[in-house]
Amino acid sequence: MGFGKTPLKDLSRSVRGRRVLVTGGASGMGRATAWLFAREGAIVALTDIDAEGAEEVARGIRDEGHDARAWMLDAGDRDSIHATVPKIARALGGLDVIVNNAGISAKVPFDDLDYDANWDRNIAVTLTGQQAVIRAAIPFLTESDAPRIVNIASTEALGASAGFSAYSAAKAGVIGLTRSFAVELGRRGITVNCLCPGPILTGMTDHLSEEDRTTFARRRTALRRYGDPMEVAHITLSLALPAASYITGAVIPVDGGLSTRHA
Ligand code: NAD
Repeated sequence: MGFGKTPLKDLSRSVRGRRVLVTGGASGMGRATAWLFAREGAIVALTDIDAEGAEEVARGIRDEGHDARAWMLDAGDRDSIHATVPKIARALGGLDVIVNNAGISAKVPFDDLDYDANWDRNIAVTLTGQQAVIRAAIPFLTESDAPRIVNIASTEALGASAGFSAYSAAKAGVIGLTRSFAVELGRRGITVNCLCPGPILTGMTDHLSEEDRTTFARRRTALRRYGDPMEVAHITLSLALPAASYITGAVIPVDGGLSTRHA
């Protein structure tokens, strides 16, 4: 547990050999994260409700000579999480890093007929799902010499857009979950941090027209552009390093300056 006898200056700045579980790995940020960790030498368990998509990504990673295996995991099904995470941990010989990335998003205003169903699904997949993955992984993370959890929230947890109350509430819940588990799990040496991505080009945003995306990014972000999923993956990887040993409970926007820019 913790970093044991390794002098702080020698803590690794590599994820080589780290056993990493990524949820929602079949697309977007999860896919970029799985690729990045695998390229850096990690052993990646790529999970998704889209089993075929996850397998395709894992195969692509293996074809380049890296280590990735796919599992079907529905982040909205607590029982399946508690059954599957231990199986993954045993297959990998343990777990060092959890990336809670799976998520859904839809514009559903307060008076929409689907409001309640969308609310329940967002809370189940995004909030209860992250909580269940973490709780199922704790026994294995406790055995790691540098256990790391990175939860993906959103800038929608810091501000809000009309019609996204379920998404926004679930993502704000992720911030609370991150802080609370950071405090509770600190004594086990487990760090728990959270990223708030801004506008990123993924499956979640590809329904928007190029023009809408460009206009939004120019008006709202400091960098005047959408982000690439890999730009989020790089920050996730940084927080997962053994050397990232004294950052926990942090809520970090990865948003091209959206949450900073006023005018
Ligand atoms: P994406 O749609 O490209 O990928 C989401 C992945 O999650 C898909 O592979 C999908 O199959 C999977 N998934 C959906 N429901 C699932 C479930 N029940 N169980 C397991 N997997 C499930 O979108 P993305 O943008 O890469 O999303 C990744 C995360 O980033 C999400 O949590 C999302 O809310 C968050 N996020 C995205 C943006 C953005 O602009 N794209 C901004 C802020 C936060």
